[in-house]
Amino acid sequence: MSRSSVLEHVKPAVRAISAYTLKEYEYEVKINQNENPNDVPAGLKREILDFALERSWSRYPPFEPDGLKKQLADYTGWRPDGVLVGNGSNEIIQALAAVFLAPGGRLILPAPTFTVYRLVGTVQGADVVQVPLKSDYTFDCDALEREFLDNGDMIILCSPNNPTGVLYPRDGLVSILDKTNRPVVVDEAYYEFSRETAVDLLESYDNLIVLRTFSKAFSLAGLRVGYGLMAPELAREVSKAKLPYNIDFFSMAAAEKLLDNRSELADTVDEIIRERNAMIPEMNGIEGVTAYPSRANFILFETPFDPKAVFTTFLGDGLLVRDVSSYPMLGKALRVSVSTPDDNRRFLSSLARVMETLARN
Ligand code: PMP
Repeated sequence: MSRSSVLEHVKPAVRAISAYTLKEYEYEVKINQNENPNDVPAGLKREILDFALERSWSRYPPFEPDGLKKQLADYTGWRPDGVLVGNGSNEIIQALAAVFLAPGGRLILPAPTFTVYRLVGTVQGADVVQVPLKSDYTFDCDALEREFLDNGDMIILCSPNNPTGVLYPRDGLVSILDKTNRPVVVDEAYYEFSRETAVDLLESYDNLIVLRTFSKAFSLAGLRVGYGLMAPELAREVSKAKLPYNIDFFSMAAAEKLLDNRSELADTVDEIIRERNAMIPEMNGIEGVTAYPSRANFILFETPFDPKAVFTTFLGDGLLVRDVSSYPMLGKALRVSVSTPDDNRRFLSSLARVMETLARN
């Protein structure tokens, strides 16, 4: 008897999308994933390791990360019972999709934006409605609001937006919140670099959800800790969609240690902001390069050349940047993470060389 494949039973919407992947390359300078170039200071790592050595690994972590939630309440100014901690903020995005999107429900997104939203919504069985940015890559607030109010079940606004670096205007956000009680998610993964937040609106709008992460400013992408801030009644519902013990004790301890010592990390965040602000005009000073304003720790830029050729020429020079040309509207674009001053100088001189090389060919 011939057997057909189990793949026939995978939901067609899942078969139809491509997985979120990242190819591995050889490089000297890694500036492709908006990570913090500064590792967690060695002294803090040691203290986290000492705690891990003493604690039993055979016992489950605390059921609720209550200590971390209290510290996050102190850091963000929101209430501890309105904090949900996730295995990266990606996990909270997935839990929100599970809670708010029924099969056939509509997830409203700007396009381009962070690709995980679309993936998670599609796997959930929702229809993903993408509203293009304006031609200068700012948000089309009116179109997003219209689409959401017409037929949306959830909207996700990434602010600053990945990969464009643009903030969602506050009056545009308030305008949406004033008109509906449907869930409005603001992803502030890059908040520490923009210093603009919607957290103060949580008190007035119980349909607002703010997402943050330890993966960027807190240098903790390797350990997976993110969080969501929302009305406590909503946090209780969304927590039903998270798996129990989603945060291991080690990541929990690391996040607590970093929050306790955040003043030690503040200088490196200030440095990244200063570097970003200096790099954008320098990039624009190189013939053929258009670098866009950014409030995050990365910069979107365009050149007249094939982005794949730009990418491989950089790689030949030892630099791993991100080719984002497959995103909607961004056919000529790449994205570079702001790194240490040394890395950034190296990137700028490489960019000038790449442009000269490609102009000659
Ligand atoms: N949101 C945005 C906008 C991001 O760019 C990223 C990481 N690239 C995430 C969320 C995921 O963060 P985490 O590592 O906390 O899952």
